[in-house]
Amino acid sequence: MAAINTVLGPLAPEKLGVTLMHEHIIWGAAGWYADSTVAPFDREAAIKSSLKVMKELKTYGLQTFVDATANDTGRDADLLKEVSEKSGVNIVCSTGLYTEAEGASPYFRLRTQASDATSEICEMFVKEITKGIGATKVRAGVIKVATGQGRISPYEEMVLRAAARAQKETGVPIITHTEAGTMGPEQADLLISEGASPGRIMIGHMCGSADLKYHISVLEKGVYIAFDRIGLEVIHPDTVRKACLTGLISIGYAGRIMLSHDSMVKMLGRSVEEAIALVLPNWVPTHIFKNIIPALREAGVSDEKIRLMMVENPRRLFAG
Ligand SMILES: [Zn+2]
Repeated sequence: MAAINTVLGPLAPEKLGVTLMHEHIIWGAAGWYADSTVAPFDREAAIKSSLKVMKELKTYGLQTFVDATANDTGRDADLLKEVSEKSGVNIVCSTGLYTEAEGASPYFRLRTQASDATSEICEMFVKEITKGIGATKVRAGVIKVATGQGRISPYEEMVLRAAARAQKETGVPIITHTEAGTMGPEQADLLISEGASPGRIMIGHMCGSADLKYHISVLEKGVYIAFDRIGLEVIHPDTVRKACLTGLISIGYAGRIMLSHDSMVKMLGRSVEEAIALVLPNWVPTHIFKNIIPALREAGVSDEKIRLMMVENPRRLFAG
């Protein structure tokens, strides 16, 4: 692919710069809209909060924000476009579907009874990448897929196969959600077997596992891995993540790892931001810049390796 689809149009991979590969501006657990009488979406407030976050991120040199929100968890291409226009940060919007258990899986599961739903999902991904999302004209720049804990369900397998086929047609990277540090090697095998290119796959949420054998088994597939829930310390304390990261970097894997938080500026539905801020004070998209990069430097990681993880690897993932 010559250019990256951002919400404001094509961007040359060299212009990506410092990139967070998996964050969310807004995110809603599937079904949030069922509660929207009590908790309606306040678009203006969401944009205001997002602009505040983007302004702070820019002070750390951030240039590109990949919004990994899948179609069934509140993706809003128009909102991302407005935030990008007003903030000056490149935003990449996803096309994709979340896990069977936590996404809106009934529709495409039902479609399997009427037709070849894998082809229908692939058609939808390709159209959102090449023509645009709905009436917005915003083209998706990554394909987001997800699997549940300890198992890839038939529904999730269908979505992963559709994603691999859509990548073959469009060249767009696939980024994944793994649950609780499971199914990374299986995701990589499935995507590659369906024709996806290992160099255009980022297996996500790998920092849900502290097992170095597991990390290496995924890296050996030739894909990128992401430590992209940094600051989400209910899963693992960041000390464990830093230990795994410095270990993998020390044996030569800095060229294959990306860092992000999976943070959410605004969760759809009833407000939870204040409660989250109390319990997870580091689960914010500036945490890597404020705390993790300095800690990696302290542990002897060079600026060149930090640049690989924050700039070069995202660029290569998009450029292929
Ligand atoms: Zn996410």
